[in-house]
Amino acid sequence: QPDFAPSLSRLGTESAFEVLARAARMQAEGHDVINLGIGQPDFRTPDHIVEAGRKALADGAHGYTPANGLPALREAVAADLEARHGLGGDTAVHPDSVVVQPGGKPTMFFACLMFGRPGVEILYPNPGFPIYESVINYTGATPVPIALKEENGFAFDADTVLGQITDRTRLIIINSPANPTGGVTPKAEIDKLVAGLQDHPHVALMSDEIYSQMLYGGRAHVSLLSYPEIRDRLILLDGWSKTYAMTGWRLGFAIWPDSMVDHVTRLCINDHSCVNAATQHAGIAALKGPQDAARDMVAQFDRRRTRIVELLNAVPGMRCADPGGAFYAFPNIEGTGLSARQAQDLFLSDAHVATVAGTSFGAHGEGYLRFSYANSMENIKRAIERIGTLLADRS
Ligand code: PLP
Repeated sequence: QPDFAPSLSRLGTESAFEVLARAARMQAEGHDVINLGIGQPDFRTPDHIVEAGRKALADGAHGYTPANGLPALREAVAADLEARHGLGGDTAVHPDSVVVQPGGKPTMFFACLMFGRPGVEILYPNPGFPIYESVINYTGATPVPIALKEENGFAFDADTVLGQITDRTRLIIINSPANPTGGVTPKAEIDKLVAGLQDHPHVALMSDEIYSQMLYGGRAHVSLLSYPEIRDRLILLDGWSKTYAMTGWRLGFAIWPDSMVDHVTRLCINDHSCVNAATQHAGIAALKGPQDAARDMVAQFDRRRTRIVELLNAVPGMRCADPGGAFYAFPNIEGTGLSARQAQDLFLSDAHVATVAGTSFGAHGEGYLRFSYANSMENIKRAIERIGTLLADRS
């Protein structure tokens, strides 16, 4: 047995990938599996973006780029953020604060590596994206869950978060719109959180805004970038994966404060040198080109969202709150008498519908199941019908 570092055994994983593998095996055995487990858009990357990537390869974008990203891409990111969030003046985004990374995930890892160590506490959402807890544990820091509650629409409650800060806290991770709940935190809570953080200057904030362009029902995104008073300790994570259906291209970015940007660039140099050059050119085309394809995806998600919530609420034993963003529904399934894991396993084995147990996103996810509505309207309808029939047959 190799003598591994103990930190290795503390690293978690993303169960959605395991569900995906099981669903794929069942499909290979000839079963008609409907996949509502997966956390990625079911659309192709818009053609003009693919074309820009292809052209970059043909034109010879074959070498390393600067570790923090092509200057033209970082300029496009800064301009896009300012336009989308109405920033400027003391909230302006400088291209030098942009660090381009292979996806949104490296930002989480690097932020946690920068602050995490034994004795330090890092606050993170629970239920929340499982990689936060995994990488906090990896660093040896203590993960402190921020419990997100159904009765709150799975939004962050500023008083709760502020009340969990101790003199050992070094980083707080928030995420809105949120995975796995679709929860959106109202501006009033963000205002209160930022104001309260003024009393805790030793605490940095990572705001994961990867779903910032997927909001429904007239909701507007409130970016943490619009608060100048937190800028010197804000890490803002966003990217292309969800907005432009580019999960497989591996492209993301974060805005880092001046005090952290050199450190993270060094982490990039040590880890991956730079993001694939052609992918970065595709990223420029995504930001600067027409936005109608991205907007159309959101419109389609919105229609599916309305439908899946309606269908889930009609299943006996299920209750589904209105998800304000992202592309997930997170119904309470306690009334079915099944635990989250039992429901996930039963629905996959007997109804051939892949979902992800709420507990895959942390202990506070017990009693809930994540349904991704990144699938066709027809499949969403068939899937929930199958689950309804299965539950009716059991009762
Ligand atoms: N943040 C959240 C909340 C996510 O749900 C995901 C992906 O599922 C990511 C970040 C990571 O995105 P990427 O594929 O760009 O690494």
